[in-house]
Amino acid sequence: MDRKTFLRTTVAGAAALVAAPGALVSCASPKEKKSSVPLRLSFQEGVTPGETLAEKLDFMEKLGIVGFEPGGKGLAGRVQEIREALQGRDIQVSAICAGFDGFILAEDPAVKAQFDTSMREIVRAAGELGSTGVIMVPVFNWQNPALPHTLETRDYLCQQMHDLGEFALSCGTTVILEPLNRKEAFYLRLVGDAAAICRDADSAGVKCMGDFWHMQEETSDYAAFMAAGPYLQHVHIASRGNRVMPGEDGDKDCYTDGFRALKELAYPHYVSFECGCRSDDRAATLTAAVSLLRKQWDEA
Ligand code: MG
Repeated sequence: MDRKTFLRTTVAGAAALVAAPGALVSCASPKEKKSSVPLRLSFQEGVTPGETLAEKLDFMEKLGIVGFEPGGKGLAGRVQEIREALQGRDIQVSAICAGFDGFILAEDPAVKAQFDTSMREIVRAAGELGSTGVIMVPVFNWQNPALPHTLETRDYLCQQMHDLGEFALSCGTTVILEPLNRKEAFYLRLVGDAAAICRDADSAGVKCMGDFWHMQEETSDYAAFMAAGPYLQHVHIASRGNRVMPGEDGDKDCYTDGFRALKELAYPHYVSFECGCRSDDRAATLTAAVSLLRKQWDEA
C-alpha cells in the first residue's frame, strides 16, 4: 500500500468511526451499568476510632462502611472474637493486611520457611472469616538477603505464588499481591505488573491490588486498574500527598480517574482506608473523607 492509499484508508476508517459513535460507546463504556456499581468502603482496624472492636464497628456502621480490614498478625487467635463482633452487623471482613513473618523471596531458606508457615496460618484464618484475601508484598527494599531481580526469580515467584494460591483457594480465600512505590519495594511497583504475575502464576487464588498512595508510580490510575481487570481483588486509599485521610491534601486528593475504571470494571470488592490522620478530630475527618469519596464516585 502506498502512502496515498494508506491515508485514504485511514481517513475513511476514522470517518466511519465518527459516524457510528454508538458502536464504540456500547463496546467500551456501559454507562447505564456504571452508575449502579456501589462503592464498598472498608476501614483498616487501626484507622477507625474507638477503644474496643465493638466501638470501632459501631462507628463504621453509622457511616455505612461495609468492610473491615484487620491485620494478619495473630489473626488465627482472633477468629472467634471477630466473628462474634460482626454478628448481626452489615459489615464483613474485607482483606487481611499482611502480618506474616519472613518473605517469599528470601534467600535464606529459614526465612522463607518462616514466611511459608506464618502466611499459611493467616490464610487459613482468612478463609474462616470469609475474607477476600491476604495482602502480601514479595520483598521490601529493606529485606535482605533477597533473591536477585532476574528472570529466574520471577519464574520462581510465579511457581511459589501458584502453590500459595491453590492453598488459599482450598481455604476459600486468595492471596493478594500489593505493588508499592519504589522507595519501599522496587521489586513490584505497578498494578499491571502484579496482574501479569497473577496471570503467569496460573491460579485463581492469586490476585493483586492497587493502593492509591503507592500508585504515584503509575502514569494513569485508570489504565492501572483496567490492566488488572479480573485480577483486581482489593484497593487501598489515602490522601495523595502525605498518606493521611483522603481530603487532607486538598485538591491533590482526586480519585475519579481510578474510580471510573472501578465502575467500568463493575469492581465487586472493597476500597479500604489505609492512612494516617493529620487532624486531632479523627472521627470528623473520617466522616468528611467518606463524603468526599462518595461524591467523587458519583462523579466518576
Ligand atoms: Mg497499602
